[in-house]
Amino acid sequence: MTVLPLDFGDSADLERLRRGFRAWLADNPLPARTPGEPVPVFLHRWHRILHSGGWVGLDVPREYGGRGLTSLHQVAISDELGARGAPGVPRIGYLAHALLEFGSAEQRHRLLPRMLAGDDVWCQGFSEPGAGSDLAGMSTRADRGADGRYTVNGQKLWTSYAQYSRLCLLLARTDPDGPPHRSLSAFALPLDRPGVTVRPLRAANGDDEFCELFLDDVHLAESERIGPEGAGWALAMTTVAYERNALDTGHLPKYGLLIERMRHHALEHRGTLPDGLLSDIGRCVVDYQVLVAHSRRRTAERLAGRAAGPESSVDKLLMTRTEQRLYETALKVFPEELHGPGGEVFGDYLYSRAASVYGGTSQIQRNIIAKRLLGLPADGRG
Ligand SMILES: Cc1cc2nc3c(=O)[nH]c(=O)nc-3n(C[C@H](O)[C@H](O)[C@H](O)COP(=O)(O)OP(=O)(O)OC[C@H]3O[C@@H](n4cnc5c(N)ncnc54)[C@H](O)[C@@H]3O)c2cc1C
Repeated sequence: MTVLPLDFGDSADLERLRRGFRAWLADNPLPARTPGEPVPVFLHRWHRILHSGGWVGLDVPREYGGRGLTSLHQVAISDELGARGAPGVPRIGYLAHALLEFGSAEQRHRLLPRMLAGDDVWCQGFSEPGAGSDLAGMSTRADRGADGRYTVNGQKLWTSYAQYSRLCLLLARTDPDGPPHRSLSAFALPLDRPGVTVRPLRAANGDDEFCELFLDDVHLAESERIGPEGAGWALAMTTVAYERNALDTGHLPKYGLLIERMRHHALEHRGTLPDGLLSDIGRCVVDYQVLVAHSRRRTAERLAGRAAGPESSVDKLLMTRTEQRLYETALKVFPEELHGPGGEVFGDYLYSRAASVYGGTSQIQRNIIAKRLLGLPADGRG
């Protein structure tokens, strides 16, 4: 079975890119994580090394610091990394798309090259204690004063890696009386701005990914607003659409490697596997192949110029099912991982439980599919 998940029959140009990347990798091997180095700091170091070789933002236009190639070129680089078990390209695509679609020319020129280079690390400040699925019901407010400046008050929650970030893509309500979906606006909030407090939270797997973000009389200039006033909901939907598919998250090669590991194990232990385990592995292979086929289709659509939309809810459900079943099965295949100190599969298993929540829960994805893709009527309850 192939580990490389996207085989479009590489064009000469794509093959050249892969060869160039392999040659570069030979001279720039993966750095080792230093003892005690937090994962986001290590990944940021890796991000900057990749960027120094020109391997970040391949599909971003040259004028904004990218290479002006296609998403297929970016996917090819993810494949190459994944096939070596290396961390993928930095997950900034969804933020970059938000800036490309909603930022002014000045913002795109100023913010995108720094984002791609890793000079500015961004986080996403959408969810709140009382507004996750019901994002449009958020209570953080950005009130515009007579001088045009905004004053922001409120609290964000689950803000991933805010403590390692310099900027936050913040959503806040700018019109308290307007319709919920048309009264939100987006901002590039510098996290060192007076009035901002970032408090990390410890998660079940030991990570300090999540943060609370407290905003007390934080001042933002009009030039820090991304997109028109009231366009925050549209920007958020663009962002999450790019956050919900295997293409942009670059998870496929990692799944492929684990499936290969399980397949080898099954071959080596043929005849002695516990009842049902072979069928479980088989189901993982089927899920994975469906996801691969689906991602190929998405790549083809992207190459044809189609932007990510509500279809990515289907991608998110498929990815969640694949990932959760894969790591549940992997723990049965490699039970020693449960006992080892911080085994990699066990850590990934714990994180896979979050797949049905982050980027919008599975129930919300089903609602989107029902309403926006299938045109089904609401059932009167929501
Ligand atoms: C690992 C991880 C990283 C995250 N990173 C970020 C981040 O960086 N920035 C950020 O802003 N947020 C982040 N989040 C938050 C995430 O977006 C929210 O957790 C998610 O949108 C769900 O919101 P909630 O937790 O408030 O749950 P709720 O919205 O309270 O939902 C609770 C339950 O009710 C169900 N439910 C709610 N409404 C409906 C409905 N209308 N129909 C059917 N069922 C419904 C949900 O599916 C869920 O099962 C992250 C979450 C995780 C797990």
